[in-house]
Amino acid sequence: MIKLPAFALRFAPMRLRFGGPAAPTVAAELEALGLSRAVVLGTPGHADEARAFASEIGARVAGTVALARMHTPVEVTEQALTQVLALDADALVSFGGGSVTGLGKALALRTDLPQIAVPTTYAGSEVTAILGETEAGRKTTVTDPRVQPEVIVYDPRLITGLPVDISVTSGLNAMAHAVEALYARERNPLTTSLALQGIDAMVQSLPQVVAEPDNLAARGQSQYGAFLCGLVLGQVGMSLHHKLCHTLGGSFDLPHAETHAVILPHAVAYNEAAVPDVLAPVAAALGSRSAARGLYDFAKRLGAPTSLKSLGLKEEDLARAAEIATQNAYWNPRPVDKAALLGLLQAAWAGEAP
Ligand code: NAD
Repeated sequence: MIKLPAFALRFAPMRLRFGGPAAPTVAAELEALGLSRAVVLGTPGHADEARAFASEIGARVAGTVALARMHTPVEVTEQALTQVLALDADALVSFGGGSVTGLGKALALRTDLPQIAVPTTYAGSEVTAILGETEAGRKTTVTDPRVQPEVIVYDPRLITGLPVDISVTSGLNAMAHAVEALYARERNPLTTSLALQGIDAMVQSLPQVVAEPDNLAARGQSQYGAFLCGLVLGQVGMSLHHKLCHTLGGSFDLPHAETHAVILPHAVAYNEAAVPDVLAPVAAALGSRSAARGLYDFAKRLGAPTSLKSLGLKEEDLARAAEIATQNAYWNPRPVDKAALLGLLQAAWAGEAP
């Protein structure tokens, strides 16, 4: 018998549709909700795909706004808002990765329009009520039930075209949510179980995705894993790993998912010293003697970047990164010490095994 701790959970109302073809599923969901002027959101780089998806949905779409950018800049949101209002929209359909989901959330925060998220990466933002926005080079985060998409449509056919390198780093980004959820202060039996299932799903499916990017069963399993990893991200607080990635992305402009891929084994090594039992199931899932080493070998085997140097960080920036990452206090299972963090960052910079 396990002794249950006291714990709290919050699930925003959301409807999930797994596995069906996305466009007719979105059309059916719009019809069920009585919505007839949806705006499909996308990125400038994938504007044609967004327009094609909009025309596949059909008559319930009023237009396409393909302006989304990484880290949800407020000026982009304001530009998109003008277009969404001009189209007299009654719904938002976010078709893309975390950047497009972010724009949908930012617009929903300002308009309270219902959102249907159709994710095409493994970022997992669609299942959280969290929005990160950037203004004047500063990224701030809000948690608000209005930003949680009401409907989420997962279709593995949509992600067969996600390039293998992005699939790998995005998948490791998803795993990072679940790994940090295992040792989160607010963890509970449900988040632990969901996190372990999410990690297992990614460990099993990502090698298959790399070998055979068109394999729908592997893509479906990885999407399901990313959903579970996103779900726990929305339930508990994140720790050292996310703080470091936030610092490296926000202050040194390193790319989001790649930075997660490099830092994860090193952040886990730092924390594994304090909570080896909590991380033992991760080591077991990866067939390794430690979670940190297992994650490093897994990432390397999948062809992920393993060094901050390869992402463009300069060695002389490491001390400043360690300084910034220790400026504001945050909870971590092992106390955060600047000298130890610098050691961690040096190993991650050089690409050494943890
Ligand atoms: P992204 O949306 O920028 O996508 C990464 C790359 O993949 C882009 O180049 C994009 O064009 C490409 N891409 C996406 N779908 C594709 C497809 N089907 N085929 C080909 N290429 C495709 O980045 P991301 O990693 O998905 O998300 C990162 C962003 O999401 C960051 O801004 C991060 O802060 C945010 N995020 C937020 C939360 C949250 O809960 N608020 C959670 C996770 C991530």
